[in-house]
Amino acid sequence: MRQFKHKYLDVRRFGSELLLAALLFLSVYLISSELDLADSLYAWTRHFEAINLDELLISLCLVGPFYLMLFAYRRLLEIRALVEEANTDVLTGILNRRRAMDVLSGEVRRAHRYRRRLSVILFDIDHFKDINDAFGHPVGDQVLRQFASLVAGRIRNLDLLARTGGEEFMVIATETAGEGAVELAERLRMAIESTHLGVDRTVTASFGVSQLRPGEGFAALMQRADERLYWAKREGRNRVAGPRMQNGASSSDATS
Ligand code: GH3
Ligand code: MG
Ligand code: MG
Repeated sequence: MRQFKHKYLDVRRFGSELLLAALLFLSVYLISSELDLADSLYAWTRHFEAINLDELLISLCLVGPFYLMLFAYRRLLEIRALVEEANTDVLTGILNRRRAMDVLSGEVRRAHRYRRRLSVILFDIDHFKDINDAFGHPVGDQVLRQFASLVAGRIRNLDLLARTGGEEFMVIATETAGEGAVELAERLRMAIESTHLGVDRTVTASFGVSQLRPGEGFAALMQRADERLYWAKREGRNRVAGPRMQNGASSSDATS
């Protein structure tokens, strides 16, 4: 999985950066000694009375490193802000698909390694196109924002909410088995159905839930949730399809 990481953000690089600085310093020092640069510079500044080379060098030595640190710190803040921006969905302020996939692939590895449970909930607003058609795109955007903040307020801190597509969202539920995730999805479904989201109509969503199976990758986990979401849509929408559906439309997810 592609990660939004830059090699210079890696602390382990600090050692090699330091070595590079030391080598540069040594090279310049050797060249400067060889060419007697200081003497030449002193001889040259004697032509100009206003220049006091000692004071000039001391000022440079004091201000130079300080300003360099300030410069580097500002760039670091900029990079952090850029990374955050690249991971955030502009409309809703929650995580975007790219970041969600990064997190999910990491969580899948962690769950396999430490034998933890992990579930995903994929959900999609029902007939959202009709909302856009009836009220206009800007109102549709507002519904999406309110929808996201409604869901964000109803999940645990440990769970992660992302907008994975236009009107499609995902919750990554760590330490949660399929049954628990279905319960959460059902709670979200009811909350959405009974909340006024800024339009004169009931907004509903359909849900597909899957639990990580032993040895499974994140793509297979997502695909199963997606198939169940599709099933929930076909069965009439505003419903949750999980690992143990009564009519056997979705299979059981073994506990990992
Ligand atoms: P279904 O119940 O099958 O999901 O029907 P639907 O109408 O929700 O699904 P469909 O895929 O037909 O339409 C999705 C609509 O979502 C179409 C698209 O214009 C709208 N949409 C996608 N992204 C945005 C967005 O950022 N803002 C707004 N306002 N609308 C969006
Ligand atoms: Mg939809
Ligand atoms: Mg959709």
